[in-house]
Amino acid sequence: MSNEVLLLPANEIEKVKAHYLKFKIERSAPGVVFAAKLVDTAITIYKSGKVMFQGNGASREAALWSGNISPANPIKSSSSKGDILPENFTTLSVIGSDETGTGDYFGPITVAACYVPAHQVELVRELGVKDSKMLTDELMRRIAPDLMKTLSHSVLVLKNEKYNEIQGRGWSQGKIKAMMHNQALKHVLNKIEPEKPAYILIDQFAERGIYYNHIKMEKEIIRENVLFSTKAEQLHVSVAAASIIARYAFLKEMDRLTEIAHTTIPKGASAKVDETAAKIYFKHGEEFLKSITKWHFANTQKAMKLVQKRKF
Ligand code: MN
Repeated sequence: MSNEVLLLPANEIEKVKAHYLKFKIERSAPGVVFAAKLVDTAITIYKSGKVMFQGNGASREAALWSGNISPANPIKSSSSKGDILPENFTTLSVIGSDETGTGDYFGPITVAACYVPAHQVELVRELGVKDSKMLTDELMRRIAPDLMKTLSHSVLVLKNEKYNEIQGRGWSQGKIKAMMHNQALKHVLNKIEPEKPAYILIDQFAERGIYYNHIKMEKEIIRENVLFSTKAEQLHVSVAAASIIARYAFLKEMDRLTEIAHTTIPKGASAKVDETAAKIYFKHGEEFLKSITKWHFANTQKAMKLVQKRKF
């Protein structure tokens, strides 16, 4: 824990307030005009113009205001939302996690977490992990095995039968994802012990409070140094690598479903998906179709209509 205090002029104070507005908390202590809480730093502004930074990130945050350093956060892409990341974040040892398959009618939800220590950041880039959003499924199939050999990781595949069972018990997709992320992170932390990452970065799908509410009944909840951001694959290669590994596991399972259904299983949730579902229902029956889909999706009803009209 460290502690930094700055005395700033009124115009600077306004900038500090604006900068941390998203992280504002209510604090009614005497003399306090503004308070905010980051994952590792508490910021308190007093009537006197004093600004106090407390916590592990205190010197980092104070440095933004103590000199002429621009408070703009250069590594945070302007369009991503979430926690403010430490400076030089891209070069730190980080466990990243990401999921895929949530919007696809056919196939599983997969979640991967993987650890990229600082000394392997460059190597992971060399392996082709640059901007995972630019990679095609085919490229990801090629890169993923190298990543899985090189990096400590965990990949969880939630097959449709299990998904339908827990969804039927009332679990939301948000809860399902949160449980899977927490579990994958736990696995990776165990694998790399006694080493610890500087941070954990989760590609954000829910606000922090909602995420932790989903997993509040879990025995072991990963909280230490956890950051959330959208578009996190652009913020650290560990998330980009996790997203490639998760995608690879998803594609492998889609290959398996294609084999057992004797027809190419399409991704997504489009009209083409409805048609394929109708065909499979007609050929193999309801139980089989259910066993390879996210049954509660609207596609099920649409496919049933096609079956009734024999339009597929
Ligand atoms: Mn994601």
